[in-house]
This record gives sequence, structure tokens and C-alpha cells, in this order.
Amino acid sequence: MATAQNATTRLRAVKKRLLAERERLEQELHDIMERTSHAADFEMATEISTYDDHPADLASETFEREKDLALEGNIQDLLDKVNTALEKIDEGTYGICDSCSVEINASRIEALPWASLCLNCQDRLEGR
Ligand SMILES: [Zn+2]
Repeated sequence: MATAQNATTRLRAVKKRLLAERERLEQELHDIMERTSHAADFEMATEISTYDDHPADLASETFEREKDLALEGNIQDLLDKVNTALEKIDEGTYGICDSCSVEINASRIEALPWASLCLNCQDRLEGR
């Protein structure tokens, strides 16, 4: 069956993309954690010695950390989605909308391989 063969090939390509994406995200998380642990060291040192002398430095450091925390949250979210998609591939339920069970549009999968909702359900979820 040519169609089944194509589906398997496509799925294999998607899986490869998801695995690469997971690796990239894990690396990014790792980098952020390294940065934030350095920032914590910095803050501790600042409190002891030069807190009043460098309020601007501290403010920008805090801002950087907040940005990192937000970024970390985003990456973690995406990583969860990528992992869920990989599980679905193994279970054979990949590409099916979580909400209405229709097959998710191929171009949507192409653009967002970790999508778990079809475009209609996604739009509804976002209140459009
Ligand atoms: Zn749907």
C-alpha cells in the first residue's frame, strides 16, 4: 500500500524533527539554568557588598532573570508538547486532534509538528 508507506515515511521524518527539536530545547534549558545560577551568585555577592552602589546593575540583572524565567517557562511548555507528540507517534495516535479527533491538516503539522489540536479547535480555544 503506497499510501501507508508514505504515511510511515512522513511520520519518521516528523519524529526526526521532534527529536532534534527536543535536543535543542533541552540544550536551551540547560544554558538558561547555567545563566540563572550565575545570576543567583551575583545577587548574593551584591547584597553583601555593593547593593546601594549599583542599583542600576541590580535592576538590569533582575530584569534579565525575569526574562530568563519567562523564557524557561516557554521552553518547558514547548518541550512538554514535543514529548507528548513523540509519545503519540509511538502510540499511533499522532496527527489526530485531541479535542475533536479529526486528522490535523498536513500543512499545520508541517509548520507545527507538536500541534495537538486542529486549527478549528485551536482557534476556538483562543476565543477566535
Ligand atoms: Zn479539532
